[in-house]
Amino acid sequence: MTSSPKADLYRKLPGIDELLREPEVVAAISRDGRPAVIAAVRAVLDRLRTQIASSHLDAPAVEAAVASLSHAIEREVRRSVGYSLRPVINATGVILHTNLGRAPLAQSALEQIAHNAAGYSNLEFDLQTGERGERDVHVDRLFQQLFRDEGQPDHTFPTIVVNNNAAAVWLALNTLAAGGEAIVSRGELVEIGGSFRIPDVMQQSNARLREVGTTNRTRISDYEQAINKTTRVLLRVHRSNFQITGFAEQPALEELVALGRARDIPVVEDLGSGAISDLHLIGISGEPGIAESLRAGVDVVTYSGDKLLGGPQAGMLTGRAEFIRRMRANSLFRALRVDKLTYAALEATLLAYVKGDHDSIPALRMMRLSQDSIDARAQAAARQLRSCPEIEAAVIEGESVIGGGAAPSATLPTRLLAITIKDVSADQVVERLHSLELPIIARVHEGRVMFDLRTVFPEQDEAIASALRALANSAAPVK
Ligand SMILES: *Cc1c(COP(=O)(O)O)cnc(C)c1O
Repeated sequence: MTSSPKADLYRKLPGIDELLREPEVVAAISRDGRPAVIAAVRAVLDRLRTQIASSHLDAPAVEAAVASLSHAIEREVRRSVGYSLRPVINATGVILHTNLGRAPLAQSALEQIAHNAAGYSNLEFDLQTGERGERDVHVDRLFQQLFRDEGQPDHTFPTIVVNNNAAAVWLALNTLAAGGEAIVSRGELVEIGGSFRIPDVMQQSNARLREVGTTNRTRISDYEQAINKTTRVLLRVHRSNFQITGFAEQPALEELVALGRARDIPVVEDLGSGAISDLHLIGISGEPGIAESLRAGVDVVTYSGDKLLGGPQAGMLTGRAEFIRRMRANSLFRALRVDKLTYAALEATLLAYVKGDHDSIPALRMMRLSQDSIDARAQAAARQLRSCPEIEAAVIEGESVIGGGAAPSATLPTRLLAITIKDVSADQVVERLHSLELPIIARVHEGRVMFDLRTVFPEQDEAIASALRALANSAAPVK
């Protein structure tokens, strides 16, 4: 009987039962469980069969693959049971990088999550009355304290929390403007990364969009003329990620508020990032503060939890009590509410503001880092790297970015570590840095790899230097 050469190759592959008796595979089963290992064995064998079928392997190649099968299985198991979501080092200098998870959490927020999430908590249980409570109370008390108007101490602004700011904008419009119109300036019809478009959100909320003015100029009279019987909301949207400069005009917030009051129409402002602390102190202007808007008389403001606030992903609605009450009563509020992990992280973050402990919030600490302190760290790393003959290291001027749609024009002067490695292109360096156990995300500019240590935690500086040294050594020709 004759058989095809391919059939001979298939017969060289051991069976699953045989492989499951290999010592390395037995060890993998006791470590990661039988189902994961069997799946890995099947995946590895399938891959080999596919390669044989497409004539990619000859007999010696199949024999070599079989000899290292248990090794390949072990690698496959590790990959399948390893985490997909992993920490990275952010050396981009973009502090609130949406693709890298936006704001890193404060230590106290992490502790508060662990402390409450491992067991039960009083999330919706009133310990005083022994009855059902509201989950909002844990953070509402802190928001009220932070936005208290000293001029009008009785004037408090309640806050409710939903999943993100997109949900907050939707809830505000759906509650206040469904079936009617919301007037918005054409210059504020923004699209934010990840295709969040104000016009789309408005449509889904059943509010009709009434655009007024032009892209660069909108006057208060434009809003005034557009008001009709069906007008429900005057909407203001912060231009998070772009600027209109030159021949541009926008009514002052106070004018919009005065118009809303005169016509009895609520003013809603989507602040986007929304600053709690006064960013002027760190030289950043143009970023609207939450308290400022409330004091100016805006009825409802919405903002994100993981942008300038520096906390977990969340969207806040803060404003006049009667409006916030109506939004909480919206039956879809239940679908947008956040879990105990978010409340735990948010409460800890807000407490840091209440205590004035801004440096415990990583995003704020990074914004406040001086150029000198960043320079000192970059110089130290450069000195270390120069001991490696394949590496050219320089420290140059650069600019960090706040990101997350905050202060699009505000950049922070920084110092960049600029690297080239002999015989390795900048793109190759970046690729190798991504494949590390702890990946490092850097930028390429004019053929050099740039590291902005502003967004790197100081204890990670060493990991960058040693990764680059290892990379240069492995790239060096063998002598
Ligand atoms: C970022 C941003 C949003 C979306 O906020 P998420 O919390 O990401 O949903 C909405 N509006 C503005 C103006 C923003 O800057």
